[in-house]
Amino acid sequence: MEQQQRKGLRLVLFPLPFQGHINPLLELATILHSKGFSITLIHINFNSPNPSNHPHFTFHSISHGLSETEATTSDAISLITLLNIKCVEPFRECLASLISNALDEPIACLISDAMFHFSRAVAENFKLPRLVIRTTSATSFGVFPAFPLLLEKGYLPIQDSRLEELVVEFPPLKVKDLPVIKMRDQEKFYELISRVVSETKASSGLIWNTFEELEQPALDSLTKKLSIPMFPIGPFHKYNLAYSSSSLLAEDQSSISWLNTQPPVSVIYVSFGSLAVLSEAEFLEIAWGLANSEQPFLWVVRPGLVHGSEWLEPLPNGFIENLGGRGHIVKWAPQQQVLAHLAVGAFWTHSGWNSTMECICEGVPMICRPSFIDQKVNAKFVSHVWNVGVQLEDEILERGEIERMITKLMKEKEGEEIRCRVSKLKDMALSCLKQGGSSYKYLDSLVNHIQSLGHSNL
Ligand code: UDP
Repeated sequence: MEQQQRKGLRLVLFPLPFQGHINPLLELATILHSKGFSITLIHINFNSPNPSNHPHFTFHSISHGLSETEATTSDAISLITLLNIKCVEPFRECLASLISNALDEPIACLISDAMFHFSRAVAENFKLPRLVIRTTSATSFGVFPAFPLLLEKGYLPIQDSRLEELVVEFPPLKVKDLPVIKMRDQEKFYELISRVVSETKASSGLIWNTFEELEQPALDSLTKKLSIPMFPIGPFHKYNLAYSSSSLLAEDQSSISWLNTQPPVSVIYVSFGSLAVLSEAEFLEIAWGLANSEQPFLWVVRPGLVHGSEWLEPLPNGFIENLGGRGHIVKWAPQQQVLAHLAVGAFWTHSGWNSTMECICEGVPMICRPSFIDQKVNAKFVSHVWNVGVQLEDEILERGEIERMITKLMKEKEGEEIRCRVSKLKDMALSCLKQGGSSYKYLDSLVNHIQSLGHSNL
């Protein structure tokens, strides 16, 4: 009955075109669709999701307006900055046409990725309420509003001489853990973050792929700082729904058939997500660290992961053959299935937020090696606050240290204790989604909030 009333309300969702943003946004779309809303996605013709995987949603593609050089840059911050300029007009035109054709089914609100800060002004012009989804942890986002203070106090820009200093405003973060990225024009990054924070503050609410019990302090502090409603309704991918894959690369199913041949809780799954890049020297240390550990491993080596190489060329001749079947390398894996597989005993991750949540939900301990921005905060909290993993902290990756971390996690008492804690965290994550759980309640209030926005908008 309640669901019936929501029929006739449409939501327009607008993902940032990166894998780690597309996945949670499409999962959120699936959740809201199951609550009776119709779903339209506006997406940029760059890293486009495949509409045929999501037949219940309507897709509208808009032009990114970038030159070939701009579109192929590996500098994600410059790319996002440019998209926030170049997409304004195509997005405005698309939204105008959707609104004028939505007579039978009014649009309740826009749900935009928070990184598309420009969408606030466009939505406001149409008097369309705008919610945002932030696809990282609340804990890492919680540092962004304090950037002016961190700059004033000299923590930022990061200086090598202060790397080990505690940031007293955000314990246990040290200067080296602050959510920044090394780039030539550091001002460009601060400017982007400042716009994202201010346009998030101007939104009608913030949706998180997290659960309250995990990140309560950060959520409370953000509620005070931003004065908007927060909806921590995660873990998104664990609602009992039929999700379709939104992988931009083909998922190699041999990952699963190979895992089927391995003993329970034995395999190190290694993946650095969709954006991180390694130097050839780092890649080789990882390869030898894994080989020397004598544990079986499943390793995702994305084409382009190694700077200057297409795929596996830097590996010495015969490296894989000499492992005697103990290692399996793929270009892209069905990660959620992999982490849920009984053979997987640990996840060596770059600490992207989706990977972290997916791992917690399967009760798998982590080895963290973050690259930039939020990953550094996530890794610190995984290893020092939630205590469900260890972090490779040395600036330079070294095969002996890798081997030691793997042994600690897979064979020593500390590893056993970590496994026990992550298993409890898994139970907590899953119980949040059950009737009466925190995410269950927040989803209810999100649905009511959207309905009230929709009706005041008619
Ligand atoms: N992923 C996957 N297969 C892979 C590697 C990653 O399906 O081989 C998915 C993973 O499940 C997660 C997303 O890609 O949902 C990566 O997001 P995350 O936030 O962890 O990292 P990012 O790619 O944004 O750095």
